[in-house]
Amino acid sequence: MTLGLDLERVASCYQTELRQFAERHPRSGEHYQENLKHWLYGAPLHWMQQWPGLYPILVADAQGATLTDCDGHTYVDFALGDTGAMFGHSQPAVAKAIGHQALHGSTLMLPTADSLWVGQELVRRFGLPYWQVTTSATDANRFVLRLCRMITGREKVLVFNCNYHGSVDESQVEFDSAGQMIPREGVHANGIKHATTTRLVEFNDLAALEAALAQGDVAAVLTEPFMTNVGMVPPAPGFHEGLRALTQRFDVPLIIDETHTISCGPGGYSGEHGLQADFFVLGKCIAGGIPAAVWGCSQAMAERIWQVLPHFQPGQAINHFGFGGTLAGNALQMAAMRATFSDVMTEANYAHMITLAERLREGVQRIIDTHRLPWHVTRIGARVEYLFMDHAPRNGGEAHHARHGLIEAYLHLYLLNRGVLLTPFHNMALMCPATTAQDVDLHNRLLDQCLSQVLAQTNLQGAAS
Ligand code: PMP
Repeated sequence: MTLGLDLERVASCYQTELRQFAERHPRSGEHYQENLKHWLYGAPLHWMQQWPGLYPILVADAQGATLTDCDGHTYVDFALGDTGAMFGHSQPAVAKAIGHQALHGSTLMLPTADSLWVGQELVRRFGLPYWQVTTSATDANRFVLRLCRMITGREKVLVFNCNYHGSVDESQVEFDSAGQMIPREGVHANGIKHATTTRLVEFNDLAALEAALAQGDVAAVLTEPFMTNVGMVPPAPGFHEGLRALTQRFDVPLIIDETHTISCGPGGYSGEHGLQADFFVLGKCIAGGIPAAVWGCSQAMAERIWQVLPHFQPGQAINHFGFGGTLAGNALQMAAMRATFSDVMTEANYAHMITLAERLREGVQRIIDTHRLPWHVTRIGARVEYLFMDHAPRNGGEAHHARHGLIEAYLHLYLLNRGVLLTPFHNMALMCPATTAQDVDLHNRLLDQCLSQVLAQTNLQGAAS
């Protein structure tokens, strides 16, 4: 038995699910064969190939919490574009704003009236006084890191093991079994000498953090407030206080990336827990699916930035700043962000999403208890994740070791074949304002059935032998 399950049984049930998948999704299969001829990995983005099953389902429509595929199946979508659609697909208010702005100029390289509203809203909601827009959270992180290097004159970026902040080069590292920092498995170092760009420590290890910052060469600490990309790793009591105190003591800008933890509430995890960063990054869901992200900074950081990159003066030669993007801050993004902040990222919607997430968490906890599995389930706001270890991991390394490809593949595919989508890559379920209690109960019932099926077969086999 591994993680409470007999892996041979899981493998055999998984084969049955794969056959069912092929039978149920013939048209998606045909499209995939065609797509393989044009797309490097059979889809416009290689991640799309990594859903459970033999190929990605081809989506015909997406509304609220529901997807429909080209074979006519509907799904309760708990993946929600891995947070990009956390407020539901095709939100009417956002769709209307996007449609309206598309008729009045989408990208102008000039501000519109919405920019004023959104700027004020970012300050009101997240507390930091100055903001910029990018087209992705990856970009926002990359640009903030560049600025931190400029203002501190230091080279290294400190990240936590098993982090994910997008394809930011410096962060593509991990610890090997001897605790040495190496390039992340499968990711080419891209010419980066990580020994000169990166310091890596485990999340929650304040002693290691202190030792790393004491070297005096760290330009920024980049972290999620609650790790979400390797399963969920909660901050230990006192971790955030320690992190803030150490970054202040060594004068190292602290960047908090709330791209996923915005699931916690309208102000993200920081808003819920009163964290104060020097830089704040947020992407994915803030423009209803239009590519957009924002980063904000404190007054002190803004003043340091203006020292190296002053405001433009009329008549001055045009300068490169090393960050931005032609489409960043465009009119369509601003219209979509305004509608998202005003109409969907509301207290009332969060309350609904969080209540349902708690219902899902409780259900999964009951299933874990009933089947006596050495698993646990965590929730932060509208985001729930189950992990194959019996306690919450203390750091990324621990969480990483609790992953199990086959068990994950089987669970995800069992659910998918019966109309429920979990986020690929991990066992994560997100609620949106359109998610219902019935949706949650369906997930819980299917998870129970799926585990009962493997466990019953295990027991039967045990009885026969
Ligand atoms: N930050 C965090 C915390 C993320 O989880 C991700 C993506 N999963 C990113 C940044 C990058 O977002 P994007 O791929 O939209 O650039």
